[in-house]
Amino acid sequence: MSARLALKGNIVLPDRILENGVVRCENGRISEITEASTRLEGSVIDLTGHFIAPGFVDIHVHGGADADYMDGTPDAVRAVNRAHAAHGTTSIFPTTTTGSFRQLDDMIRSCEEVQTAWSSKDGARIAGIHFYGPYFAANKVGVHSSAGRRDPVRQEYEYFIGKEIVKIATCAAELPGAVDFFDFARRQGCLITCGHSNAHWAELDAAFAAGMRHVDHFWCAMSSVSSLRGRLGTPMQGSMEQYVLYEERMSTEVIADGIHLSDDLLRFAFKMIGSHRTCLVTDANRAMDVPPGRYRFGPQSDGTWVVSDGESVRSDDGGLASSMHGMDRMVRIMARAVGNDLPSVIRMASLTPARLTGMDCDIGSIELAKRADFAILTPDLIVKHIYIGGQPLDLSRNSAGF
Ligand SMILES: [Zn+2]
Repeated sequence: MSARLALKGNIVLPDRILENGVVRCENGRISEITEASTRLEGSVIDLTGHFIAPGFVDIHVHGGADADYMDGTPDAVRAVNRAHAAHGTTSIFPTTTTGSFRQLDDMIRSCEEVQTAWSSKDGARIAGIHFYGPYFAANKVGVHSSAGRRDPVRQEYEYFIGKEIVKIATCAAELPGAVDFFDFARRQGCLITCGHSNAHWAELDAAFAAGMRHVDHFWCAMSSVSSLRGRLGTPMQGSMEQYVLYEERMSTEVIADGIHLSDDLLRFAFKMIGSHRTCLVTDANRAMDVPPGRYRFGPQSDGTWVVSDGESVRSDDGGLASSMHGMDRMVRIMARAVGNDLPSVIRMASLTPARLTGMDCDIGSIELAKRADFAILTPDLIVKHIYIGGQPLDLSRNSAGF
């Protein structure tokens, strides 16, 4: 196994594309980025005509390949990580759903085990856990199991958020105890996010003062002016939507699968919030890369039943139940929506989430000394090859055969 790697192609840098560039790597890290013409000694893998993009970073993802992180076993965790690696994700943040203490504990322990014993055949590397469920607003649980929802429980979250592996923490800002939750998560160094929430401006202000800086999947399961009119009447109140647009220190994420949000809304997010503070996320569940059918969202034992038609996943009431697509699709749809600005679109799937989670010294872009994690894409942004830590991934092993 060679510790050296050199790739030649159109390198997607954070702010531009270096055409016909060469990126060299040693011992799993990027050691040199040059124009191809300068010197070409040694063996170089010729990817001329392809994009060499940084491996994608997904901060909100539940499952794939018929497995959900909440299944709570190392085998399930590896199955999801391998499936997402085939779609270009090299750093992943397994995301909890609502569930019992035991289910959350099994999920986090399994992720710790897989992270510790990781090798490139395990697929995407776990960068941290997104502690997402169970502290959602009762009227904003979406497809998550209501039985597994609750208000913040201090003893419980101190145990979970206190774990080193947990890097992102979500809570609905209007819940009793939310500010204490945010305060604790801030002291643990987490990216703090408000999601599955019907919070109004004053609640968001209090959350912001405690460290909240991010809102989960923009326009989905979050407050709007009209949802707050339903809650509080008039005068109408500012919602999570206005808060993110108004406060530049806030960030967010979009599910750019072409099913949750129209291209117009994606273009709006790109222009009004911007690629520096909007992440692409898959929010994928176990129905990714498996045939249409009935699946559990969340734990296999008692998650909510959802139905995949091969393109979208819906609950029995017809509502969208997260996505079933990988990050490569999110990149393609976002690129379609905004036109010709590939470095910014790729940034939303790599450097922006890496920076927001404090990992950008290590991952998220093709820059010296960062990990040699690459997604090699065709001109149509189809994944051709993946490298994790300088090691090529055998994509055929990850195919679900459908
Ligand atoms: Zn989700």
